[in-house]
Amino acid sequence: MSVPLPPSRAREAVLAEVVPTPQETVPLEACLGRVTAAETRSPLALQPFDNSAMDGYALRSTDTAELGPLRLVGESRAGHPAVSGPGAGEAVWISTGAMLPAGADAVLPVEDAREEEGAVLPARAVAPGENVRRAGEDVGPGEKLVPAGTRIGPAEIAVLAAAGFAELECARRPTVAVFSSGDELVPPGEPLGPGQIHDSNRAALGAQILEAGAAPDGGGRLPDEPAAAREALAAALDRDFLLIAGGVSVGRHDHVKAALGELDVEERFWRVAMRPGGPTWFGVLPRGAGERPTLVFGLPGNPVSAMVTFHLFAGPALRAAVGLAPLPPAMRATLVEGYAKKPGKAHYLRARLELTAEGWRAHLTRERQGSHVLTSMLGADALAVIPAEAEEVPAGGTVEVELLR
Ligand code: AMP
Ligand code: MG
Repeated sequence: MSVPLPPSRAREAVLAEVVPTPQETVPLEACLGRVTAAETRSPLALQPFDNSAMDGYALRSTDTAELGPLRLVGESRAGHPAVSGPGAGEAVWISTGAMLPAGADAVLPVEDAREEEGAVLPARAVAPGENVRRAGEDVGPGEKLVPAGTRIGPAEIAVLAAAGFAELECARRPTVAVFSSGDELVPPGEPLGPGQIHDSNRAALGAQILEAGAAPDGGGRLPDEPAAAREALAAALDRDFLLIAGGVSVGRHDHVKAALGELDVEERFWRVAMRPGGPTWFGVLPRGAGERPTLVFGLPGNPVSAMVTFHLFAGPALRAAVGLAPLPPAMRATLVEGYAKKPGKAHYLRARLELTAEGWRAHLTRERQGSHVLTSMLGADALAVIPAEAEEVPAGGTVEVELLR
């Protein structure tokens, strides 16, 4: 019987096996949620040319000192620069974003002038550079835009579009087959017979995989029957990751570990000193040079255990495969409700976080924290960690919290 690993050691063991996915070119409009495989630098200045911040008149600022009339000699529209610039004593009509004509050094806003018989009458003087946006004020040519290993959001898409990128080098999404195991499982939408329950793990893990930036790819339900389970698992071993929820424990009908062994998946650890999630299994199907290994997680079947162990072990592996940090940084919070347990295992309590003047407070989402109390995941922002050796955290005590989102 193997000794349960501390959760941090189990995570290290998982991360040690992760091979980053190769990069691929992705159209910009499909990049939301993807992770950059390379740093991007701007091929051009943003904005590319000096332009006007206002609708008004481009002119020489010194010409406005006397507030005398200036001759209107042309127009610079957005996308249609003026043919020639204003000379001394002249002005050019200019739109917001239009190119500043040669010779002009400022823009007199339309509100601060009057037009009369082809002349502009300034109501005030303008300073040099007033209402002019200089080329490269936002980004200089060759300047860094987005570093490698960044999750692309709307702001990155906006900046990259402005710099002219129509596509981007991203880490390929890891492929993940998800299996749920057990004869009692029925898909949601189908009626339950005696002793049956709906399969929530496949739905939960599929959503967690998408949230981690990976691609659910096949899988299904494994029956509690060794040969059929082995056959289904064998067909999915070409994926980057295999997740199996349930059937890994020590029950008479838990066949998953044996089936994986027969398929040459090598066990890396079995059991973690934590609750929920103790019966967690991890293994690797190694491959020859140039081929990617398959990382295999046998997660406990209890629904909270499956979600928590995904978050602590499988999620970090999926994130590392695309070049992201394994987990958002842990924080400290005040545990509002006290908690007592036996020493030996770390407990991961589902908690809602609240920011107060005294810092973060963690409220348990449910008083009952059993691994079957799936609604304890509802509204949970974080897992409050009660360390293995601790026996009690009093109400108002400090705990570390691992963010769930
Ligand atoms: P097992 O790990 O197969 O012994 O399952 C442990 C517990 O989790 C049992 O009560 C199962 O019925 C339950 N369980 C297993 N798989 C699922 C699933 N996919 N959805 C919901 N509950 C499950
Ligand atoms: Mg089972």
